Amino acid sequence: MSSQPVTFLGRARELIGTPEAAAVDRGVRRFNEMRLAGSAEYAVMEAMRDRVRAIRLHSLRNLDKLLDRFADQVIEAGGRVHFARDADEANQIVAQILRDTGSRRVVKSKSMVSEEIELNPYLISRGFSVTETDLGEFIVQLADDVPSHIIAPVLHKTAAQIGKLFARKLGVEETADPTKLNQIARDHLREIFLAADAGISGVNLGVAETGSIVTVTNEGNARLCTTAPRVHIALMGMERIVARWEDAAATLEVLARSATGQHLSVYTNVVTGPRRSDDPDGPEQVHVVIIDNGRSDILGSDIAEILACIRCGACLNICPVFREVGGHGYGTVYSGPVGSVVTPGLHGMNPWWELPYASTLCGACEEVCPVRIQIPSMLLKLRERAASEGRLPGWLEKGMSRYRTTATDPVKWASAKKWLYRLSGLVSMGGYIRRVPGPGRGWTRFRDLRRPAKQSFSDWMRDRDGA
Ligand code: SF4
Repeated sequence: MSSQPVTFLGRARELIGTPEAAAVDRGVRRFNEMRLAGSAEYAVMEAMRDRVRAIRLHSLRNLDKLLDRFADQVIEAGGRVHFARDADEANQIVAQILRDTGSRRVVKSKSMVSEEIELNPYLISRGFSVTETDLGEFIVQLADDVPSHIIAPVLHKTAAQIGKLFARKLGVEETADPTKLNQIARDHLREIFLAADAGISGVNLGVAETGSIVTVTNEGNARLCTTAPRVHIALMGMERIVARWEDAAATLEVLARSATGQHLSVYTNVVTGPRRSDDPDGPEQVHVVIIDNGRSDILGSDIAEILACIRCGACLNICPVFREVGGHGYGTVYSGPVGSVVTPGLHGMNPWWELPYASTLCGACEEVCPVRIQIPSMLLKLRERAASEGRLPGWLEKGMSRYRTTATDPVKWASAKKWLYRLSGLVSMGGYIRRVPGPGRGWTRFRDLRRPAKQSFSDWMRDRDGA
């Protein structure tokens, strides 16, 4: 995993207020409204959220057994299973399958795990041709960019920017009409689909009881990727498993509603092994690559629950920090609240220790999460980890240590409150402090701070009770 040269704060400073951040803000607000509308008309949404939480936690508790069963069933259906410990191994496995099957031209449908393991640069540097076929990912690839949102990779781009890009890279007439842009991409990709040797997809869910792979899209490109070429390679994070079809059905219902407010995604694609002799089409070979890449470490830790995530994106859309900064601020493929837990979990605290601090801890992410994942408490656990590893700036370490000493001693605390009141009188005007010096200046850059009251609430209560 490549690390970014600047910090989250550095990236955020560059992004806030840019047209890119404004496009993200508009996009996530729209997603949010769609989620609210979709949930409001679904009377059993709350009960379904409880059910899906139970399903996902059951999967995590029984992951070893379910993965064994899933692998047996994939093989039974005629597919092949490969286990990859890390990104390197996963990339090597995919490249070897492509070599063994004489495949050079590859089409891909959207897969976050392929972004995570940086599959495209790996394959392209070894002479394979790789084309992304999800519209957003196709645009990202043409622009030599990276996705900014887990369900909407080009949320940061406007239609006009995409029109210019298409004109420059595909030699078509410039347009900002979304329907025309869609058609341009379709026309361009159709021939590439038909000429492809292999298709690579992600996996939204693996169903253990039948060894089936489920992918959901709104464009139908995953269906073409997994059926048109001779070879299908499915990349699956090892936590994407459910035991039964009824579990998959329940999960897909809340996934679509939480992501875009839809009843279901437009295409739900199910692959169970390669084509049979009487099938009119389908791949001759199906390979499932089950990827760990740090997930076992998360599973054995106090943030294991984050693996229950179904990648709906709702926590990104509601997060006030994500709305201002956008996905690129996080410097990694998984952004927003879920990414601030997943990324340090998968890749370690260095250099990702800052991400758990990219949150106001307002709790909105937990409130909207269809799996009710307790993201804020996990962010706090990661902050504790960062502090215990000595990663915080010296002034904050010293400041918190002094605060702890003072706040836990009633005599020192009473004296500190008096001093704070007196000192604040030197810098306040009309009961407000306009500029706080030192590390606190960021707070007063955009807002005033109220001067501390002469009498604290607890003193007031004591006086009142005494009276
Ligand atoms: S953590 Fe919850 S809200 Fe966020 S992407 Fe995952 S399932 Fe959706």
